[in-house]
Amino acid sequence: RIAYVNGQYVPHGSAQIHVEDRGYQFADSVYEVCLVVDGKFWDIDGHLARLRRSLSELDIEMPMPESALRIVMENVRKRNHLKSALIYMQVSRGVAPRNHLFAKGLVPSVVMTAKRFDLDQSDEKAAKGISIISQPDIRWGRTDIKTTGLLANAMAKNAAHEVGAAEALLVRDGFVTECSSSNAWIITKDGVLVTHPKDHKILGGITRATAFECAQELQLSVIERPFTLNEVFAAREVFLTSASSIVMPVVTVNGRQIGDGAPGPITIRLREAYKAKARAL
Ligand code: PMP
Repeated sequence: RIAYVNGQYVPHGSAQIHVEDRGYQFADSVYEVCLVVDGKFWDIDGHLARLRRSLSELDIEMPMPESALRIVMENVRKRNHLKSALIYMQVSRGVAPRNHLFAKGLVPSVVMTAKRFDLDQSDEKAAKGISIISQPDIRWGRTDIKTTGLLANAMAKNAAHEVGAAEALLVRDGFVTECSSSNAWIITKDGVLVTHPKDHKILGGITRATAFECAQELQLSVIERPFTLNEVFAAREVFLTSASSIVMPVVTVNGRQIGDGAPGPITIRLREAYKAKARAL
């Protein structure tokens, strides 16, 4: 495997970043995970726009023009001999002697890696549906910025894993925000799709945005509003969205069965519509 690190393509096993990189010491860095389907970048404009926004919210310079980032992403894919892949890209503020204050003129560190991906790889999981549990959302107040400060997310996912669940549904002030690495949706008894509004409390998922479009194309009604855990239990269907799992049906929450305990028909239609859209690229 080949990684890109600050201008060089190096063997993955020996790819290195300095110990005083601010990404390492302060999680002063942002990232993106992009899908490549059959050699074509999927939702790349959305990912690059989100990267630009994350960096700008933190006052970190774009490390290179977007056009150059696209070329590096494509090179990383090719050098790893992958047609379909997940490209991981991380940009930190740079290397400086440890100090909370941002030094002037830092050069951002850029890392990219690639791993194999297939649109169908989560099909088996999706056919069964996943179980999730709720966890308190103890993350900071700007989870809309895609920073690598993911410790609270990692702790929540591990808590889920310990009880055999696949994801943690995060609850803040009585409302579901999202999951540890995906956005959360419910479908009410009236057939309305509901997901948390895109504000400072959630990461605006790129898959969330595309699933939104797919839902509208399927003439489903979608609204963005916060919802409670009780609404989750009462929902007809529950599903999650993320680049790696696409549209993933949820069949139990805190051990309670959702609907009839099988992946819901609307979720399945949405998953199929999403895949068809990605393949038609
Ligand atoms: N929320 C969180 C907290 C995430 O980490 C992710 C995936 N990185 C998402 C939502 C989904 O985002 P996307 O659809 O862009 O993968």
